[in-house]
Amino acid sequence: MRVLVDAGFSPRALQARLAAARMAPESIDALLLTHEHTDHASGAADAVARWGWPVVATAGTFAALPALREASRMVLTATSALALGALDVAAVPIAHDAREPVALVLADRHSGARAAIALDLGRAPDDFAQALGPLDLLVIEANHDAQRLADGPYPAMLKRRISGGSGHLSNAQTAHLLGACARVGLGAVILAHLSETNNTPELALGAVRPALRAAGWRTRALHVATQGAVLHPVASAQRDARQLALDL
Ligand SMILES: [Zn+2]
Ligand SMILES: [Zn+2]
Repeated sequence: MRVLVDAGFSPRALQARLAAARMAPESIDALLLTHEHTDHASGAADAVARWGWPVVATAGTFAALPALREASRMVLTATSALALGALDVAAVPIAHDAREPVALVLADRHSGARAAIALDLGRAPDDFAQALGPLDLLVIEANHDAQRLADGPYPAMLKRRISGGSGHLSNAQTAHLLGACARVGLGAVILAHLSETNNTPELALGAVRPALRAAGWRTRALHVATQGAVLHPVASAQRDARQLALDL
């Protein structure tokens, strides 16, 4: 079972990025959406029309994406996991200014491997790491450096939206959350959704490394995904024979 999480690119750009990762769109079994914002879903309808993927999302996300009305749809709820072949897909509600945004936890019933994708988190409550559970791989937002955002060129209203409780996580917030995740059980980490204006990979890594170290995280599989390039395939540190996720 192979799934794609979010589709913010045109089919052409998506196909090129998949090709860079040596994957054919036809090999994807389903498209999972975390929420309806354009950087996550603007390419979904075209991709689904082209490749016929069934779509998995919350009712709120579907309601906000009328272009997916004709798609084969599977509705995710926070109360029960959805079975996609051997993959159990669970949704964890998150605070973000979308209709019904979620983080996704993917569990492979055969191997027991677990991966989570947590993007666009307005805040990181203490029980969030518990809600995700032990993970072999976590793709997590590290959106901005708080100082850089404050000093940067964005209008005041946008700065408030980004740093607010339903916006995006700062590096410091991501670091705090990763510390909690490491205490629950954490393999490889991919930092994602970095702002090109308000963050750099160095700033993000510099913030999260000490927090992971302090939490006793020994895996040392820490990667950063940038917007312009396709990240190399990342295998879970504990289950390195299995490729668990690919960040686009
Ligand atoms: Zn968003
Ligand atoms: Zn986003």
